[in-house]
Amino acid sequence: MTLDGKVVAQKVLDDVRARVVRLKERSGVAPTLAVVLVGDFVPSKVYVANKKRAADTVGIASEDHIHPEGLDRAALLGLLRRLNADPKVHAILLQLPLPAGLDEDEAIAAIAPEKDADGLHPTNLGRLLAGAPSVVPCTPAGCVEILDHYGCDLKGAEAVVIGRSRLVGKPLAQLLLARHATVTMCHTRTRELAAHTRRADVLCVAAGQPRTVTGEMVKDGAWVIDVGINRLQTGKLVGDVEFESVAPRAHAITPVPGGVGPMTIAMLLRNTVRAAERQLGAA
Ligand code: NAD
Repeated sequence: MTLDGKVVAQKVLDDVRARVVRLKERSGVAPTLAVVLVGDFVPSKVYVANKKRAADTVGIASEDHIHPEGLDRAALLGLLRRLNADPKVHAILLQLPLPAGLDEDEAIAAIAPEKDADGLHPTNLGRLLAGAPSVVPCTPAGCVEILDHYGCDLKGAEAVVIGRSRLVGKPLAQLLLARHATVTMCHTRTRELAAHTRRADVLCVAAGQPRTVTGEMVKDGAWVIDVGINRLQTGKLVGDVEFESVAPRAHAITPVPGGVGPMTIAMLLRNTVRAAERQLGAA
């Protein structure tokens, strides 16, 4: 079975749209996402344009703070402080990566946790670790949303996560653990990666390397979530999982494109409407 991220993302977006309507009816206010883009990195401009377009389709207003010429540290921190204090702004998206010379950790930590649209603020990551309600990072939240939608029973399942980034691997492992999976995390120093992946009932791959997982590394009947997005020299977009050899063995697998990718923006918008609901007392 192919797990269709576009279908699941649409379901999330429909729910977000309905919540935006309710919020506007109750409070007269449209949820507003402040979009901060520093520098002129082309992929970031594309991501930001996609996020703004998606926000528009569900009735979320976006407010641009686009600085192609760059910003120095004081100006960026000052901007984030102003957005934190602005009651018209409910969530802040700081597009990463920041240009060289700016400290990403410092900038993320400068965002008010309740307005952190990406769920990367240390307070929100700490809440996730503590099992307390929090703003969850978008891509891992999207992976679990797909598994839930298609009825994957994570209780007691052997889940293996490849990748230990703050953005994907670590929060994803926490979300799987919270659903009572037995979680193994693998990374570049893992010995015998295949020995772990072959035990996985649920295999989530976020390595950023094409063909990190091939057919012989996967248990028959496994659920496979491919987070990777890699552009080959031919221009083709592929994941970290070799789809052709893995799909015949897997019970279910996300394609690239069309799997996890569409979920990330949907979860960003869900985080935004939730932030607005909390701030407007409608949660
Ligand atoms: P990252 O480079 O920060 O982390 C990659 C992790 O994978 C590291 O922890 C590393 O130890 C591990 N790793 C790399 N090669 C490995 C190997 N051969 N064996 C075992 N472990 C290995 O990357 P990231 O930000 O976590 O992103 C991972 C992938 O997911 C990238 O392809 C990225 O483009 C993609 N991504 C997709 C979305 C989306 O919306 N679909 C969002 C974020 C990231």
